[in-house]
Formats: sequence, structure tokens, C-alpha cells
Amino acid sequence: MTTISHNLQQVLERISAACAQAQRPTDAVTLLAVSKTWGASAVREAHAAGQTCFGENYIQEAVDKMAALRDLPLEWHCIGPIQSNKSRLVAENFDWVHTVDRLKIAQRLSDQRPVHLPPLNVCLQVNVDGGPTKSGVEPGQAQALAAQVAALPRLCLRGIMSIPEPLSEFAQQLAVHQQTRALFDAIVAAALPGVDRFDTLSMGMSADLEAAVLAGSSMVRVGTAIFGGRSYPA
Ligand SMILES: *Cc1c(COP(=O)(O)O)cnc(C)c1O
Repeated sequence: MTTISHNLQQVLERISAACAQAQRPTDAVTLLAVSKTWGASAVREAHAAGQTCFGENYIQEAVDKMAALRDLPLEWHCIGPIQSNKSRLVAENFDWVHTVDRLKIAQRLSDQRPVHLPPLNVCLQVNVDGGPTKSGVEPGQAQALAAQVAALPRLCLRGIMSIPEPLSEFAQQLAVHQQTRALFDAIVAAALPGVDRFDTLSMGMSADLEAAVLAGSSMVRVGTAIFGGRSYPA
């Protein structure tokens, strides 16, 4: 077994164990393999080990990788910040975007989504722990943004995502993830017009996926635990 397939197996076992602990079915949580900074060959290796969903932060790096992997049936998720001048590349190449945090970007993505592709799946990034310099919509504004994004014709609003500040204590990780979960539940309960596939709570990374799964995450985004430490920060 290669290191990547071994690591992948271990992450899937962590997810299963966390699901069992939380009394949730194992298939309630999707693993998104975060391949930023790693080359196409690493993605190919992960795919050979059974992984199909990949997350990328840097748009140009991602598009180059997609081109090198056209022969594989992969699902690509944009999990990095999107500058306006990159929105077209995102709309044309990705299956999902987790980082919609303002209407202007959502509008551009909807306008630029090619007609031959299905609507772009999007999550709203929420600044759940309130770092003033962080991206993400403020929790109090999330429902209003959800209503606006749901009205855009070429987007499908699927849920919310969060990137809390790293915390070392399980109880602290859980508390923050539970706040995100509560916001998710509130948006579901609001039953906004056009929001009919709101099923994705994107939270949890290598260091806190257990707490995220316990709080109700449906998609964990894991890089380091699969591919190893990155040689440049991202
Ligand atoms: C890099 C990154 C991850 C993966 O983080 P690891 O700690 O390597 O698992 C998840 N989500 C986002 C938004 C990231 O930028």
C-alpha cells in the first residue's frame, strides 16, 4: 500500500469511528481530500485508492491539475477565497464552491456558469468564531445571504462551511462546530424559497474532524492527514 492509500484508509476509519460515536451512519459524512500544493500524481494515487472528491484553494493551480487529470471522473471543490477576476475560471471548472461569502461573487458565479454544465453547488462560508480579518459572512447575516443566493438561477445552494481558528481542546472544537450546526439548522428551519437541497455542513479538518462529525458535519475537508505536511502554507 502507498502512503496516500494507507493514510486515506486511516482517515476513513477516523470518520467511521466518529460516526459510530455520534450514532450517525458512516455514509452521512463525505470525505473531501484537500490536495492543494500537491501535484496531479498525488491526486491520481488517492483516486486509485478510491477517493473521488478533491478540494483546492488556488484557482490556477487547481485548473492546471484538472487538465492533467481529465481522464479521471473526479469532483472538484473550490475551498479557497475567490477574487472577482478569478470567478469565471471557478464557474467554468469546479463542481462545488464552499467559499461564497458575499452576493457579488455569487452573482458573478451564477452569470458565468456555462449553460452546458449543471448549476454550481455552493456553500456559504460563515465566519463563525468572529475573527475580524477573516473571510466569511457574519453569522447574523448568513440567512439573508442564503435567501439572495438561493434566488440565483445557475447556483444550487447546498449548505454552509466554516474554518474556525485551530483549537487544541476537543470540547472547544466541539463548541465552535455546534455553533455552526445551530446556524445550519436555523437556515433549514427558515425554509427559504428556492432552498430545497440544503444538505451540506462543510466543517472539520485533519485536526478536528471528530468534533466536527459529532456536531453534525456532513463533509470533512482533510489535507495533511492524507497527503502529509505541506511545504508551503495554505
Ligand atoms: C487547507 C485546508 C483544509 C485542510 O486542512 P488540513 O489541516 O491539512 O486537513 C481544509 N479546509 C480549508 C478551507 C483549507 O484551506
